[in-house]
Amino acid sequence: MEYMKNLKRIGVLTSGGDAPGMNAAIRAVVRTAVYHNIEVVGIRRGFQGLIEKQFMSLQSQSVSRTVQLGGTLLKSSRCPRFREKQYRKIAYDNLREANIDALVVIGGDGSFRGAEDFLEDFKDYHIVGVPGTIDNDIYGTDYTIGFDTAINTAVSAVDKIKDTADSHNMIFFVEVMGRDAGFIALYTSISEGAEAMMIPEVPTKIEQLCSYLQTERRQNKTSGVVIVSEGDENGSASEIAEKVKKILPNYETRVTTLGHIQRGGSPSCRDRVLASLLGNGAVEALRKGISGVMIGQINNEIVYTPFREATTRHNEINKYWYEIAHILSL
Ligand code: ADP
Repeated sequence: MEYMKNLKRIGVLTSGGDAPGMNAAIRAVVRTAVYHNIEVVGIRRGFQGLIEKQFMSLQSQSVSRTVQLGGTLLKSSRCPRFREKQYRKIAYDNLREANIDALVVIGGDGSFRGAEDFLEDFKDYHIVGVPGTIDNDIYGTDYTIGFDTAINTAVSAVDKIKDTADSHNMIFFVEVMGRDAGFIALYTSISEGAEAMMIPEVPTKIEQLCSYLQTERRQNKTSGVVIVSEGDENGSASEIAEKVKKILPNYETRVTTLGHIQRGGSPSCRDRVLASLLGNGAVEALRKGISGVMIGQINNEIVYTPFREATTRHNEINKYWYEIAHILSL
C-alpha cells in the first residue's frame, strides 16, 4: 500500500451525541499521529468548530490522563449550518488555511452524513470516521464506542431498581436509550432476566405484554422489570405503564427513565480498548490515502465501510437473542 507522503497535519473532532470512550479515541488519534511525526489539530465543538475556526494544537501530553474520562475533551455539538453547502465551504477554506490535510470525525451516523456531504463537495479532501455512539446501531462495526459502558450503567441501575420491585411487589417500567435501535434494551434485558422488553425492532402490542405478564408460567408474580427502549412504537415507559395499568389495575406499577446517566461516566475497559484500536486505525487509514470510510471492528479485525453504507444501513439485533431473553425470564 502506497503511504501518503504529504500527510503532515490532521484534524480530529467529536460530533453529535457524546459517548464514553470518545476521549480514548482522540488520544489514540493523537498518539498514533505523533508516532508518525504527523501534527494534530483538535477542532472544538464538532462541525461548528470547523466553521468558526475553533482549532487547538494537540501534543502527546495534551491527552495525558484522558483515557478514563467520559464525555469529550474537544466538546461536541449539533450543527444545523453544516447541512448547507455555503458553510461547508467555509469549513473547507478554514481547513486549507490551517494546512490541515485530513480529518478524523468521531461521531454517529449523522456526523458521517455530514462528512459524506463534505466529501461530495470537496473531492480532493480526506476524511475517515470513527463510530462513537452508545446506541450501537451503526452498520460496519460489531460495537460502537460507548455501548459497553452504557449497558453496564443500565445494568447496575436496574439491579438497584429490582431490589425495590421485589420488596414491594411492583412492576417497574424502565426506559433505556435507543431511539431507533433496541440494543441497550436487549442486552440489559438478558442481563437482568427482565419480564419483558419493548424494542422498536419487535412490535409488541400492549395486550400481548399484559397477557404475557399474566401467564401461568409467571405463577401470578406481580413484581419485576419491563425494559422499554425509548424508540418503542407504544410510546414512552410512562405511557406504556399507564396503558398496562388500565388492563391490569391490580398491578402496582412504577416508572424509571434512566436518561443521560447512560451517556456519561468513565468508559469501560472494552470501550477504551475499542476506541484505542479504532483511533489508531483511523490514522493508519489516512496514512494509506484512504478516505470516505468509517473505521469499524468486525470479528476483531479492522474493517473499512464507505460512509454511504454506514449511513444507509443499520446494525441489526439478533432476533434469536430476543427469543432467548424470553425463554430465560421468569
Ligand atoms: P450523531 O452523529 O450522533 O448521529 P447528529 O445526527 O446530531 O449526531 O449529527 C451530528 C451533526 O452532523 C449534525 O449536527 C450536523 O452538523 C451534521 N449532519 C447530520 N446530518 C447531516 C446531513 N445530512 N448533511 C450535513 N450534515 C449533517
